Amino acid sequence: MLTISNLHAAYGKVQVLHGISLDVPKGKVVTLIGSNGAGKTTTMRAISGMLKPKEGTVSLAGKDITGLDSHKIARAGLAHSPEGRRVFATMTVKDNLLLGAFPRFTGSRNRGDIDTDLQKAMELFPRLRERRDQLAGTLSGGEQQMLAMARAVMLNPEVILLDEPSMGLAPILVDEVFRIIQRLKHEGMTMLLVEQFAAAALAVADYGYVLENGKISVHGPAASLQNDPAVKAAYLGGN
Ligand code: ATP
Repeated sequence: MLTISNLHAAYGKVQVLHGISLDVPKGKVVTLIGSNGAGKTTTMRAISGMLKPKEGTVSLAGKDITGLDSHKIARAGLAHSPEGRRVFATMTVKDNLLLGAFPRFTGSRNRGDIDTDLQKAMELFPRLRERRDQLAGTLSGGEQQMLAMARAVMLNPEVILLDEPSMGLAPILVDEVFRIIQRLKHEGMTMLLVEQFAAAALAVADYGYVLENGKISVHGPAASLQNDPAVKAAYLGGN
């Protein structure tokens, strides 16, 4: 569904990604793990058009989307829930969600029924339903994180990129976020997940890639990475 081949990316002269290739098959959850600064967020940004790749290709459902503007990539069906709480602070929760669906109406793809999808998003994230008329900027950090995820779901995308959805959340909310990811997986959503909690990410994922200094060092089925001694020692707290 999403195929990345030989991706190179840089900030100015600083090269961060040195030829990354990965594959996210339809209906699967793939996780990208790695230490701080390895280039995980940069990979997500290069896929979704927030950063133009220097080299390599990104294809979505067989269509080359490399280097397109991010709104065109969204329109093609790729949703990016970015690291940090990128919500529209002065708009309500509901309006933030409706904006998530906006790219569907600027192209011919999958217009669907927005009200049904809004209800579904609220059901998936009950905390947001309770706060639907609240200004997004007044939500707690964890709630804003959930809003960013719910907004990605509102695109009714082919693939969702989830960048650190649990960042800064209290443990109870981390559990809730992983339950939601599990549920989206169960519904057949294709996802690429970047997570600081590598153990939890591998538990929900089908397949994993380890990124070290801008290169993929190891990849394999999530279950085999969970048992790989080097991966355990470096990313799973040695357990
Ligand atoms: P973390 O887990 O800490 O979020 P990461 O794997 O997501 O790390 P990136 O955010 O992709 O890492 O950063 C990779 C490298 O690129 C780092 O060395 C970082 O300092 C650098 N970098 C990131 N954003 C920029 C930027 N806007 N300008 C210059 N360098 C940047």
